Amino acid sequence: MEEPQKKTPHVAILPSPGMGHLIPLIELAKRLVHHHDFSITFVIPTDGPPTKAQKSTLDSLPTAIDYVFLPPVDLKDLPEATKMETFIALTVARSIPSFRDAMKKLVATTRLVALVVDLFATDGFDVAKEFNVSPYVFYPSTAMALSLFLYLEELDRTVSCEYRDMTERVRIPGCVPIHGSELLDPLQDRKDEAYKWVRHHAKNYQLAEGIMVNSFMGLEVGALKSLQKEEPGKPLVYPVGPLVKMGSNSRTDGDDVCLKWLDDQPHSSVLFVSFGSGGTLSFNQITELAYGLEMSEQRFLWVVRTPDDKAANATYFNVHSDGDAFDFLPNGFLERTKGRGLVVPSWAPQAQVLSHGSTGGFLTHCGWNSVLESIVNGVPLIAWPLYAEQKMNAAMLTEDIQLALRPKQSENGFFGRDEIARVVTCLMEGEEGKSVRNRMKDLKNAAAKVLSGDGSSTKSLAEVAQKLKNKN
Ligand code: UDP
Repeated sequence: MEEPQKKTPHVAILPSPGMGHLIPLIELAKRLVHHHDFSITFVIPTDGPPTKAQKSTLDSLPTAIDYVFLPPVDLKDLPEATKMETFIALTVARSIPSFRDAMKKLVATTRLVALVVDLFATDGFDVAKEFNVSPYVFYPSTAMALSLFLYLEELDRTVSCEYRDMTERVRIPGCVPIHGSELLDPLQDRKDEAYKWVRHHAKNYQLAEGIMVNSFMGLEVGALKSLQKEEPGKPLVYPVGPLVKMGSNSRTDGDDVCLKWLDDQPHSSVLFVSFGSGGTLSFNQITELAYGLEMSEQRFLWVVRTPDDKAANATYFNVHSDGDAFDFLPNGFLERTKGRGLVVPSWAPQAQVLSHGSTGGFLTHCGWNSVLESIVNGVPLIAWPLYAEQKMNAAMLTEDIQLALRPKQSENGFFGRDEIARVVTCLMEGEEGKSVRNRMKDLKNAAAKVLSGDGSSTKSLAEVAQKLKNKN
C-alpha cells in the first residue's frame, strides 16, 4: 500500500538567490498548500551562510512547507565587475549537482509532481527531466518583462547595435513601446556575461510546461493577452498574481518603531521612501533627497542606507547591513524634520507600513514586489528606478497604467532637490496626485477581485494545480 504522505502531491521550488525572489515564491507555496493541499520543499542555492531575513522568513512557514539550503558554491573566481545577474545565475548553475541529490531524496520520500523554478534557475529543468517531474517557471516580475524574455531571441536577431543606441523604441509584444536604454540592466551590454545568461534562461522558458506570472489581467491587459495567444512552441502562461507578502492585521511587532510612529500620524499623510532590499544611492543623491523631502514639507518615513557611489544595488545580497547611514545625512536634517519625518536605517517592515492607514504615498525603486504590495494597499507611487528591470517597470507605471508620478532626471540620471520636492508635493497634495490615487484605488479593488474565490488569478492557479494533481 502507498504511504499516506506519498499521496499528497509535492512540489520542489528552486528559487534564484535574493529575498525579492523568495518572497513571492513563498506566497505561491502558501496558496498551493492552503487552497490545493500540496506540500512543498524549497531547495535554496547559496553562496554563503543564509541571511537572517531568509532564516526568519522560512522558519515562520506552515509545516507543509519545508526548506533545505544547498551547500554554498564558490564564486571567488569571478572578477570584481561581475554583474548581479551573472552572480545569481552562476550560484544556481554551480548548485546543480547538490540540487540533483536533494531531488533524488524528494523523489524517494514524496509524490513529487513538479519543479517550479524562477527567473534565473532554469538549469534545474535537466534534473526535472531526469526524474520525470513537470518543469514550471514562476516569473516574479511583470508580464511586460516576461513578454520581453520570450521576444528576446527575435530582438537579438534583428537588432545589431546596443539596444540603448536604437533610434526607434522597442516594441515588446503587447506593451507600451519603450526606449532601448530602459530595457533591463543585463541587456545593456550585449558582450557581457549577464546578457548571455539572460538569453540562456529566456530560451529555456520554452521547455516549461507552463509559466506562472506574478501579475493580473486588470493590471497588464495588453502584455497578458499577447502572452496567452496560442502559438506552436510557446508555453502556456498563467497570471496568478498579485502574490505579495501581506501586512498582518494582528500586530505581532507592535513595538516596531516605524509602526508606532505611523500610529501617531494623520490618515494617509505619510510618504514612505524605500529602495527595496538592494537599493543604494550615491552620497550626493542622498543629500538631494534629504533636502527635497525637507523642502516638500510633507511627512515621510525614510529607510536610509549607507551610500554607495559605485553600485545602485550594493546591498542586494546583504540586506540588514548596519552601516552608519545617518552620518551621511545633511547637517541638522534630523533635527529640522523631527516630528514630521522618521528616518530608519537599512530595513523597515514594508508590508505593514504600506497597509498602515497613515501611509499615503510610496517613493519606490519600482521593484515588482514593492509595486504589487503598494497596489494591494492602494498606495500611489513615485517611481525612482535603480537597477534590474526597474526602468521598464517605471515606464509602464507612468506612461501606460498611470499609477506613478516620475521626477525628471538630469542627463546623468541625477534627481535634484527642487524636482524631488515638486513631485513629492504633487503626489501628496496636487491634482495629478489625486488622479494617480484614484487609479490606484481602482487597481486595489481589481487586485482583490482576481484573488477572490472565482477571480481570474485564483482560477489560473487552480488550473495549474489540477494539471499537477492529475499526474501519476
Ligand atoms: N522589503 C522590506 N523592508 C525593506 C525593504 C524591502 O520588507 O526595508 C521587502 C519588500 O516588502 C519586498 C521585498 O523586500 O517584499 C523587495 O522586493 P522588490 O521586488 O520590491 O525589490 P528588490 O529588493 O528585489 O530589488
